Amino acid sequence: MGILPTKSLTVDDPLEAHGFVLSGVDKPIVLLALDWCEIRNGAYDEWRDALAKAAGTDPARILLSSLHQHDAPVTDSGAQDYLDQVGMSGELYDREFNADCIRRVIAAMKTSMATAIPVTHLGHGQAKVLHVASSRKIISPDGRVSFNRYSSSGGDKFLQDTDEGDIDPLLRTISFWNNDDPILALHSYATHPMSHYGKGAVSADFVGRARRLREQDDKHIAQVYVSGCSGDVTAGKYNDGTPAMRPLLADRLHTAMKAAWEATVKTPLTPAMISFRNVPLTLPFNDDPEFSRESLMQTLQDAARPERDRILAAMSLSSLDRIERGQPIDLVCVDFSVARIVLMPGESFVGYQQLAQKLSGDVMTMSIGYGECWPGYIPTQLAFDENFDHDWRWVAKSAAAPLETALRELLAKK
Ligand SMILES: [Zn+2]
Repeated sequence: MGILPTKSLTVDDPLEAHGFVLSGVDKPIVLLALDWCEIRNGAYDEWRDALAKAAGTDPARILLSSLHQHDAPVTDSGAQDYLDQVGMSGELYDREFNADCIRRVIAAMKTSMATAIPVTHLGHGQAKVLHVASSRKIISPDGRVSFNRYSSSGGDKFLQDTDEGDIDPLLRTISFWNNDDPILALHSYATHPMSHYGKGAVSADFVGRARRLREQDDKHIAQVYVSGCSGDVTAGKYNDGTPAMRPLLADRLHTAMKAAWEATVKTPLTPAMISFRNVPLTLPFNDDPEFSRESLMQTLQDAARPERDRILAAMSLSSLDRIERGQPIDLVCVDFSVARIVLMPGESFVGYQQLAQKLSGDVMTMSIGYGECWPGYIPTQLAFDENFDHDWRWVAKSAAAPLETALRELLAKK
């Protein structure tokens, strides 16, 4: 994760890239779900530009999302440039590894495009996930609100006993079919995907394990999993961080994947039913004094400061550069008329996913989080009002309104 004190030492299980190319509707639409933590700024552009060129489409039509596992890369080419300048090359990520991953994904994508299968039907289904997700928000016995239920807080009796709180309990599955044959299933659930992390063992964690279990159920159906908007949702209530929890959480997610599949409603899909929409989203940069360029440069250059602070400063500078050059985020919706996919940036809180579903009424709306990740946490206005804060927040406290407005515009369009 770049800033974790322990670098990768072993590979518990490999990180994978899964996705699809949907062609025949204007230019191709590509979805790519990576078992990485976050992709930001120039690195996000590199991935999208390279895939768009190879698929013959526009970068905005590449829906790139990280699943957000924490024993996995965080990439930001601008941040790594800043680190290179102060002798910290390779500190955030390995550029050559990143470039090689892009090449390998493009090769796989081209192979899949050469063996494309006609899609005649779209399926959509949903099911509740039991005993996985819980809100980070906790109200102490004295009435104080905090957001301290992290991924493996379940060892703490109070955090274990406290209600799940405000989550979206539904796993949503969208599937593509060739008549009676299912081709691919795309699953989304809103929770941080970690059972335990930070000791240097690379892993796709319980969400990767659930996906692999589902692949074994029927080897003919491609399985893609994405994380929903889950900045404020973790497995904390149910997970004490012991290794035994990883397969248990995976089993619970896998059970919901099967249930959502069994609940699938199939509809004939025609090109006229599919539309792609994109609203450019500009979020304000964190205006706290320590996020000024001067202060960030000081931190970056100060060899006496902890490595973590200097890496975070480089990431901040890269995002500040982006803000100053006026590059918006693509807030994207793929609308299949009977179901929708919405790609949101960074660690958008689950409230945005709930809003997207509300704005879509009865049309099942799958929100995907962790698209362009420079913003870090994007709290809702309520969470800002309740003083949510964290050093993984790059947006100003006025960021909720522009995201909400952009979502309304995106989902009101027909
Ligand atoms: Zn996170």
